[in-house]
Amino acid sequence: MTRPMEGPRRAVVIGAGFGGLALAIRLQGAGIATTLLEKRDKPGGRAYVYEDQGFTFDAGPTVITDPTALEEVFEAAGAKLSDYVELLPVAPFYRLCWEDGTVFDYANDQEELDRQIRALNPADVEGYRRFLAYSRDVFREGYEKLGTVPFLHFTDMMKAGPQLARLQAWRSVHSMVASFIKEEHLRQAFSFHSLLVGGNPFATSSIYALIHALERKWGVWFPRGGTGALIQGMVRCFTDIGGRIELSAEVERIELDGERAKGVVLKDGRRFEADLVASNADVVHTYAKLLAGTARGEAHGKSLKKRRFSMSLFVLYFGLKKHQPQLQHHTVLFGARYKPLIAEIFKGGGLPADFSLYLHSPCATDPSLAPEGAGSYYVLAPVPHLGNTPLDWAVEGPRYAEKIFDYLEARYMPGLRENLVTHRIFTPFDFRDELNAHVGSAFSLDPVLTQSAWFRPHNRDDRIGNLYIVGAGTHPGAGVPGVVGSAKATAGLMIADAALLPA
Ligand SMILES: Cc1cc2nc3c(=O)[nH]c(=O)nc-3n(C[C@H](O)[C@H](O)[C@H](O)COP(=O)(O)OP(=O)(O)OC[C@H]3O[C@@H](n4cnc5c(N)ncnc54)[C@H](O)[C@@H]3O)c2cc1C
Repeated sequence: MTRPMEGPRRAVVIGAGFGGLALAIRLQGAGIATTLLEKRDKPGGRAYVYEDQGFTFDAGPTVITDPTALEEVFEAAGAKLSDYVELLPVAPFYRLCWEDGTVFDYANDQEELDRQIRALNPADVEGYRRFLAYSRDVFREGYEKLGTVPFLHFTDMMKAGPQLARLQAWRSVHSMVASFIKEEHLRQAFSFHSLLVGGNPFATSSIYALIHALERKWGVWFPRGGTGALIQGMVRCFTDIGGRIELSAEVERIELDGERAKGVVLKDGRRFEADLVASNADVVHTYAKLLAGTARGEAHGKSLKKRRFSMSLFVLYFGLKKHQPQLQHHTVLFGARYKPLIAEIFKGGGLPADFSLYLHSPCATDPSLAPEGAGSYYVLAPVPHLGNTPLDWAVEGPRYAEKIFDYLEARYMPGLRENLVTHRIFTPFDFRDELNAHVGSAFSLDPVLTQSAWFRPHNRDDRIGNLYIVGAGTHPGAGVPGVVGSAKATAGLMIADAALLPA
């Protein structure tokens, strides 16, 4: 029997990443008194911010796509995103550079794209058009229809089956791109996107080709003040409507009463009771650590550890006293090898000698992120996770940083070292220790088809009826639009379940 809610229900959300914040706003906006508990001293999770000597470094996400999903979160609180943060358009979306000197500016301008594609291989102009049509088709089915729907039952998967089959979802992103586009640089240019959400283009379902249509439809954005300003805007929106956030509040345990969660206990001993508990923390951490000693936690934790995890990342943040204006906001620097390098990163067994890099130069859009005339940057290299390559990053990290600085200085950033003011690194050890990420994975479970939708951990636990999961480890997966979509799916379940609770 459905009954209207009597008196405020209480929810606890563990973790203030994009997923946890978006969920907390939606719950508070629906009248559920929500407390957000974050382990670290600042919110954001992977979207943490470092500040040093006037430089602002966004730690993680910098490519903000699908602003409509973010606007919807603020609307759930009766607010407007634009009252909290300004989104600036980024053009071109990315500059792609190869070691042979090829440069491709991936822009949202069809004529400009056609011109650049034609210069590399005239026949691929038509191939690209067919790829775009395919990508738009996948986007409608995979993102618009299924991106925010919780896959709780196998029947949900069965219903999606015919569409997935029609779109050849069993094929990889690269294999689909290669079926339309022949030239090698262009194949890389239109298939690397799944790496942004932790997916190997040669293994991830072609459903992830939808990212291309998503970017073409809504563009690529950057918040004024950095991604951290968007996080701060979400926190303010949450507290403006009465939400409570506790920082430096590490949850040690989720307390159960039989098959119901009744609250959480923090490391410092504080206890928070709740009618509904959601975890935005890493899924393995949630089951194996926060539910340790319970039958569900032990069994599910063990089975999750057997799954395939996505790669880790090595991130190097640095400030230069002179901005390098030749750089675009987002640059992908492809190394000499593509497929073999990606295979080594995902399979592990050692740190590859070469790398492909993503370089962030936010002052190209917003100079306020560094002192006047200076520039903030970060560069990241995908690296194997600790489960298949257990390196000692305390030793390897500083060495790897030097190697990347050498490469950047020689090829893309002249004078880098003489202008270096500050730098810091974030390694797989930090993903593991700071973010509690299993095997130091940067993106949680590898988004292959057999670990997607119903096959991914569910937005509501199958046994503990008032325990929910939100963020990269659940449906639909990593990336800001993914985790904000997961928050919508999870909030829908929690709000409906709250209405059924006894008074
Ligand atoms: C370097 C980098 C660059 C990226 N770039 C992009 C990009 O450009 N665009 C894009 O869309 N995506 C990008 N991504 C992916 C995207 O950032 C993530 O998928 C997304 O932010 C993950 O959000 P989440 O909600 O799963 O939570 P997370 O950000 O993982 O946050 C989880 C939170 O839970 C907290 N926590 C963990 N354990 C506990 C505990 N026991 N008690 C309390 N709190 C706890 C953690 O401290 C953390 O704050 C990038 C990721 C990385 C690492």
